[in-house]
Amino acid sequence: METEALSIRPFTDQVFKRPYLIAGPCSAETEEQVMSTAAQMAEQGIKPDLFRAGIWKPRTRPGSFEGIGRPGLSWLKKVKEEYGWKTTVEVANTQHVFDSLKAGVDVLWIGARTTVNPFSVQEIADALVGVDIPVLVKNPINPDLSLWIGSLERLKKAGITRLGVIHRGFSAFGKSIYRNLPRWEIPIELIRQFPELFIICDASHICGNRPGLWEVAQRAMDLNYDGVMLETHCNPDAAWSDAAQQVTGSGLKSILDRLTIREEKSADPKFIDNIEDIRHQIDVIDSEVLNMLGERMKLADKIGMFKKLNNISILQSGRWNEIIEKSHEKGKKLGLSEEFITKILTAIHEESIEHQERIMIES
Ligand code: PEP
Ligand code: MN
Repeated sequence: METEALSIRPFTDQVFKRPYLIAGPCSAETEEQVMSTAAQMAEQGIKPDLFRAGIWKPRTRPGSFEGIGRPGLSWLKKVKEEYGWKTTVEVANTQHVFDSLKAGVDVLWIGARTTVNPFSVQEIADALVGVDIPVLVKNPINPDLSLWIGSLERLKKAGITRLGVIHRGFSAFGKSIYRNLPRWEIPIELIRQFPELFIICDASHICGNRPGLWEVAQRAMDLNYDGVMLETHCNPDAAWSDAAQQVTGSGLKSILDRLTIREEKSADPKFIDNIEDIRHQIDVIDSEVLNMLGERMKLADKIGMFKKLNNISILQSGRWNEIIEKSHEKGKKLGLSEEFITKILTAIHEESIEHQERIMIES
């Protein structure tokens, strides 16, 4: 089925070099802090495509800094006047939209805690009817692709023609090296369905710390994202929000300098020839894998019939553990991780149970 584009115009007509850069503090705290953050970036020769700052901060727990509010918008205006950089803020309700538009903010973004709530997203969409401004939608905090797409659809219906997304990771209970798990497969599926969407990786909120930022940003570049969002603060350790993940102007520069930017395509005929040859070999193997899976399921049907006739249960956990263990051992020699082997075998096993179940209930 053909999907209809969500963004019907390119997100930006600015000429930019990948990565499209959104940088600036997590929160606008004081005029001095906003201006010296911008100054630090400029001193490093960095010109962000968008200068960001949170004005209203949706905090998970009450009692932490909840944003400076309206006065902060005039500091962003000052950054724009002094440096010529476009600005972006997070909006979560009608008042935020009106205040931001009045202050000349160039791009709006919807935060992860807002994307989860269709009432809030609809309220923002309604406030934007008749307004021509690009909007970026962060992924919802839970790994729900439909909810993410639904928010984009609400904005499109309200007449927003330039839409983009920000991948900031997904909440999970328990310890992890990430503040928010990247779950790269979710944004990859979004872009498969809507290849026209402009996509930014918010490495700061995925990592929650400084040391991991480069690797996540590099992964995003390798996956052909358009850009990155990196929270930047003149004095990160003293930041009023997200202190652990913000970088200074020079910290930002060193991340950007270390990024390798790869192209999606090459015009070199030798490269094209080589890659086509390898892709052909992959297609042959993929088709063989599918044929073999088909054969394997025929055997599952057969064994299902046999178990049925002898009144034996479908699942025998001893047998299943044996398969997993043997395969881990074999996989190791083939350079396949245990995680991959478990994932793929679990999927095969589930399908096989499904087949046997069907045989069992057939009269
Ligand atoms: C932010 O960008 O500062 C922010 C609050 O992000 P998120 O909505 O991704 O938590
Ligand atoms: Mn933040």
